[in-house]
Amino acid sequence: MFRQMIPFNDLKAQYQDLKPQILERINRVLEHGQYVMGPEVNELEGKLAALVGTKHCVTASSGTDTLLIAMMALGIGFGDEVVTTPFTFIATGEMIALLGAKPVFVDIDPRTYNIDPRKIESAITSKTRAILPVSLYGHCADMDSINEIAGRHELPVIEDGAQSFGSTYKGRKSCALSTIGSTSFFPSKPLGGYGDGGALFTDDDQLAEVMREIRIHGQARRYHHKRIGINGRMDTLQAAILLAKLERFDWEVGQRRAVGAGYTAMFSERTPDVVVPCIEHCNTSVFAQYTIQVDNRDAIAKALNDHGIPTAIHYAVPLHLQPAFRAYGYRDGDFPVAEAVSRRVLSLPMGPDLLEHDQRRIVEALVAALH
Ligand SMILES: *Cc1c(COP(=O)(O)O)cnc(C)c1O
Repeated sequence: MFRQMIPFNDLKAQYQDLKPQILERINRVLEHGQYVMGPEVNELEGKLAALVGTKHCVTASSGTDTLLIAMMALGIGFGDEVVTTPFTFIATGEMIALLGAKPVFVDIDPRTYNIDPRKIESAITSKTRAILPVSLYGHCADMDSINEIAGRHELPVIEDGAQSFGSTYKGRKSCALSTIGSTSFFPSKPLGGYGDGGALFTDDDQLAEVMREIRIHGQARRYHHKRIGINGRMDTLQAAILLAKLERFDWEVGQRRAVGAGYTAMFSERTPDVVVPCIEHCNTSVFAQYTIQVDNRDAIAKALNDHGIPTAIHYAVPLHLQPAFRAYGYRDGDFPVAEAVSRRVLSLPMGPDLLEHDQRRIVEALVAALH
């Protein structure tokens, strides 16, 4: 029997649902013609700050540029060190390196896959300028413990919340948990646009002002440049699309949580051989990815693909073993937890529009592939 490929992340269903609002919003921008820093950018920043619960939101061109802008605003540069996790998307470590600073990796907690706070303190030196935890797969890092360590050393904390926008940590929202929160609106992220985009969040007036300036070539007034910056603005069209998508976001967050809980319940019932995500009882996850651990990961991925079920690996090579970071001299074995996990993780189709019968089909195929 021919069975259709299940989408890994069904963005078409979402578009069909929001089509009139999205087209209306796009059309309004095309008509008013303020394609760069139009009124939708300001409107979006107001709504996002209210949603997250911070005083300021600064939108930007991507979740990579937000990390760059945040670290530039904190004055991080050549010879500095930033403590971060090796088990993340490249951008986290890459922007540290781009500024001439050194990514100082710290191994992860084997249950949550986030930076292990117990290992942070020994990585701090006189050159450390910030701690940059990542809230991987949509579940926040242990921000209270991280903030406590940072406070003792008077260091700022940037949460890379590119995957966790919409999730909560002890009742508070991701991106509102530290000095600066950074997120991405890449299409496949929990809140995704139709291109690149990102946002920064802070309660600090001064930092917000500096980040706004850096976003536009370091200018406070047009053609008057106080500092070095970048072209890091979000397009008005992306802001308009995100405004339309925000209407459905609360529902989507609820769906994501339900789909995640559904997978976990089904696997727990069927097999002891799938390690399901660990969500701390005080937190919620938006499941940017629903990622399990299995033995024989690659064989299982192939079997699923043969059944029309796409999978992905987030991430097969930890950052310290990426050729791009060769110059720092990290070696195989430096971060054994991240290395072990990178050989076993497998992300399954996920999204607010994943149908329950498709989810059952995925679980059945995976259980069959295990045995
Ligand atoms: C996606 C992602 C980024 C980068 O976001 P872009 O908008 O794609 O530049 C940074 N960090 C993490 C953890 C991500 O998942």
